Amino acid sequence: MTIIYKHEPFTDFSIEKNKQDFEQALVFVQSELGKEYPVIIGGERFKTEEQILSFNPAVKKEVIGTVSKANQELAEKAMQTALTSFKSWSNQDPEERATVLFRAAAIIRRRKHEFSSYLVKEAGKPWNEADADTAEAIDFLEYYARQMIELSSGKEVQSRTGEINKYTYIPLGVGVIISPFNFPLAIMAGTAAAAIVAGNTILLKPANTTPVIAAKFVEVLEEAGLPAGVMNYIPGSGSEIGDYLVDHPKTRFVSFTGSREVGCRIYERAAKVHPGQNWLKRVIAEMGGKDTVVVDCDADLDLAAISIVKSAFGYSGQKCSAGSRAVVHQDVYDEVLEKAVALTKELTIGNPARLSHYMGPVIDQASYKKIMKYIEIGKEEGKLRIGGEGDDSKGYFIQPTIIADLDENARLMQEEIFGPVVGFCKARDFDHMLEIANNTDYGLTGALISNNRHHIQRAKKEFHVGNLYFNRVCTGAIVGYQPFGGFNMSGTDSKAGGPDYLILHMQAKTTSETL
Ligand code: GLU
Repeated sequence: MTIIYKHEPFTDFSIEKNKQDFEQALVFVQSELGKEYPVIIGGERFKTEEQILSFNPAVKKEVIGTVSKANQELAEKAMQTALTSFKSWSNQDPEERATVLFRAAAIIRRRKHEFSSYLVKEAGKPWNEADADTAEAIDFLEYYARQMIELSSGKEVQSRTGEINKYTYIPLGVGVIISPFNFPLAIMAGTAAAAIVAGNTILLKPANTTPVIAAKFVEVLEEAGLPAGVMNYIPGSGSEIGDYLVDHPKTRFVSFTGSREVGCRIYERAAKVHPGQNWLKRVIAEMGGKDTVVVDCDADLDLAAISIVKSAFGYSGQKCSAGSRAVVHQDVYDEVLEKAVALTKELTIGNPARLSHYMGPVIDQASYKKIMKYIEIGKEEGKLRIGGEGDDSKGYFIQPTIIADLDENARLMQEEIFGPVVGFCKARDFDHMLEIANNTDYGLTGALISNNRHHIQRAKKEFHVGNLYFNRVCTGAIVGYQPFGGFNMSGTDSKAGGPDYLILHMQAKTTSETL
């Protein structure tokens, strides 16, 4: 009997015992740093000459691990292995496949703070963000396992006298999973687990900045009894093995989370049918956002300011759900802006290994440069109200930054920055607010802070985003409660952690038996 799904609770770090346990886990992970992580194909380990150096973005000189880099030859080997493994894994009883996920969830739950500590070290996540990432990984495993059990008997269709009809789901084949740095455990585990539990075999290419946490997850699945060859771990460069595998005639689907630029490139490449390929590849892409917190004139203004600040600066704004734009009614604009600036002043930045730091670094030098460039653009387009400075001497730290008085078409209001920068824009009335909120190429998340019932009802219809929240932040979707994914250039309209997600990794088969 399967227990009803409930999301994993977050850790309360105001409880001394939890704090001590987390500190101990950090000490343990510290002692594990610097190890080597080989490529894993069919359970076999391959150490390569070329390596990826994963380091702590808060302390650049601290090496998290040295990771072997797969080349095309190894990528091909992984593909052949996954093709062979598909034959047996796709025929494995779905409940058995689900059980592997349940076991993996239990293992991670037991070692929760250890996983979160890796997230602190390798991704620069503050404790609470790391804890939420680990909880979400557990949720994905628990949720998709149950979904698979539910789907294993297919869906109801009609039969007639003398005829039995059935509608069932079968797996697709080999999938390439390309996962991002910003939820290096949750999204990596979620996209991998969904594909696997549905009966596919996969080639997992984690983000190059966070490959160690992915290697740890692969170890967990091995321990949980996942047969060798179902999940192959192949870190490597996008241009070398990413393109090679996206183009490969035997790739059946690609599940990608990352930038719009890379997502569009994958979508386009995957559309081409190569010799030896007898299907159209499926692409699941989750690409980004330019998300808005909208503040109405009769809103709770303290709640509005808190929602703006938390949506913008949680994990240094490195979430595609981040609220990087605040659109505020002209009557309350100045007051909300002042309150947001005051709250931002209180935020602490520094090494996230210390609980007292609200914000850590951004992920690497390239991100640092890009965000600092946007701050310069922002200074020209609007008024810098707070922040604006960076320091990359020891780690990649950027102050939480507010740019006010932006035009709705300013670059800061249109382009995804993926850093701790929020733009403020004044709106005339509610129509104008919705117009600005919808005036982007994306459509991922949004929040409306309002006490006006009529406006809330209108926003439900007219605010065109995949995840719309009222009177709260626009980040932090919970698996199974708030299925996550956006419209338009935010991706292929998938909803991670939702009831329709697994089916994207399967195809339906109708059988009609004449009696
Ligand atoms: N699911 C996360 C949230 O709701 C965001 C995921 C992402 O940034 O890719 O905040």
